[in-house]
Amino acid sequence: MKMINQRRHETLNMTGLTRFKLRNELAKIVSCLTIFLCVLVCAPVAAQTKSTSEHSKNSIMQLVETSANTLGGADKIRALHNLTLQGYAQYAYMWGGGNITASPNAPQKWMAANDLQRIWDFDNDIFQLKERRNMLFPFAALFGHAFFPVNQVLDHNISYDKLGDGKFARIGEFEQNPLFIDGTRVRKLWSLTNPVSLLHAILTNKVTVTDLHKKNNLLLLTIQADKDVTLVLALDSTTKIPVSVQWSTPQNNLGEVRFTSTFTGYMPFDGIMLPMGYNTKMDFRDIVYFKMYVDGYRINTAVENLKTPESIRNAEVPVEKAPVIEVENVGKGVWRLTGGTTVVEFKDHLLLFELYGSQILAKAIIEKANTLVPNKKATELIVSHHHFDHTAGFRAGVAAGLKVYSSRANEGILREMAERPTPHFADVLRGNNKFKFVPVDQHLALSDGSTTLDIYHVISNNHMADAVFAYIPAQHLMIEGDIGTAASDWQLWPESYTDNLKFYGITVDKISPVHEKVMTHSELLQFIEAGRQRAIKRGMDYQKMNEYLPGYPIFEPNK
Ligand SMILES: [Zn+2]
Repeated sequence: MKMINQRRHETLNMTGLTRFKLRNELAKIVSCLTIFLCVLVCAPVAAQTKSTSEHSKNSIMQLVETSANTLGGADKIRALHNLTLQGYAQYAYMWGGGNITASPNAPQKWMAANDLQRIWDFDNDIFQLKERRNMLFPFAALFGHAFFPVNQVLDHNISYDKLGDGKFARIGEFEQNPLFIDGTRVRKLWSLTNPVSLLHAILTNKVTVTDLHKKNNLLLLTIQADKDVTLVLALDSTTKIPVSVQWSTPQNNLGEVRFTSTFTGYMPFDGIMLPMGYNTKMDFRDIVYFKMYVDGYRINTAVENLKTPESIRNAEVPVEKAPVIEVENVGKGVWRLTGGTTVVEFKDHLLLFELYGSQILAKAIIEKANTLVPNKKATELIVSHHHFDHTAGFRAGVAAGLKVYSSRANEGILREMAERPTPHFADVLRGNNKFKFVPVDQHLALSDGSTTLDIYHVISNNHMADAVFAYIPAQHLMIEGDIGTAASDWQLWPESYTDNLKFYGITVDKISPVHEKVMTHSELLQFIEAGRQRAIKRGMDYQKMNEYLPGYPIFEPNK
């Protein structure tokens, strides 16, 4: 739960993203079937495709003009100086991978994005994304409940963040953490995920329509906004009103995600029709990733001057690279590596507990682990639970051929992660996804005569229902993620650690956690108690204000 507020810098080679191929095989089959049925029943052709070659550039621009006219007028949109959207939103926490279980039926946890603005300064070609983010569920780290301000700027092809107190940070081409994707490409795509800003960009030749075809009742315009920045605008084929925008992004856990943002509830603002609702769905379990509710729009008002400061213009563009992987000796044949992975030596191989953070970090960890003992390589991986920070390096583990142990209930989501294709982006798993899974029910012992490691199902925990921890009985050593060490700020399941020890009748001398540093049993008890006291105080403070936080008062069944 811990690293997600840290910026990760990553530049993926996005050579593959030259075009969306929406005229896929399925569309062809649907089209053929439709024609076949039409011959039979003499109904009109419902679905057909027309290639760009059949449409002159003029007719495409005519269609764009017609669409713009439905929203108040092409000339009016072309002449816009700026546009400000004000509202609020919610994000599916961890892309839908942060719920109590990995089941598609688990209740979705949401993050709020309040005090939200999107500002398009068309005159200066600048886009600004502002909001304050806050978890709408119990979160153990302070930043999750701090309404932390996000102030992102895209000025032509430079992106930077306004950090407050006059400070700025240059942002890379592509960045991601388990909660968010960001970077110049992503900001450009969000800036065009609006019917008026996108039509404005087409009408002022800032982007190019490269393809038009019809699919069912939609006219699909493929739009090239930049090298490797492609999106598809869907117009209603009858009314020509913009219906949705679609684009894809790399993502550590899922390989690649396609977003479809649908616009609803058009209303006039100074004569321009703008949507009051934006719903962005993912092609992963059809989850709604982002719900944006509009309070209203302002048109051609005074906007802040956000031209890139000289210091940012000259700053180095951040690129994600793996940190130096340090090795800490935790016990006999047990090491904890930078990034939170614990390595356990067996007779003829190494086992990893967790590949947290990102694909790049995981690759570096696997490489380092393979140097720890001569002639022994990492061949196995225990995944503590499915949360997307804890599985951000999972695809790198599958690519390395690791056999995976986790709770039986996690097989489905892990298989989904392992098998998702990445047609448009470079990815660690390209053509190398042989997923090998060993389910753990309540207890599984791995023993080869030299080492015995027990895997136990976690109990008494309201953060993760389908989790496991590892225990090396010969050393009284526990390896865990998020049982007692999710974060240092608040302990919201303070009895989970001792309950698991009691339930399985085990004695722990030392803990090698995914997040915090290696601790002794008594150090962990102190760590939990301090966080428990802070959480109790926080709950009481809020109650005095007549505010009732989710997860408070903290659940302490044994007290
Ligand atoms: Zn965690």
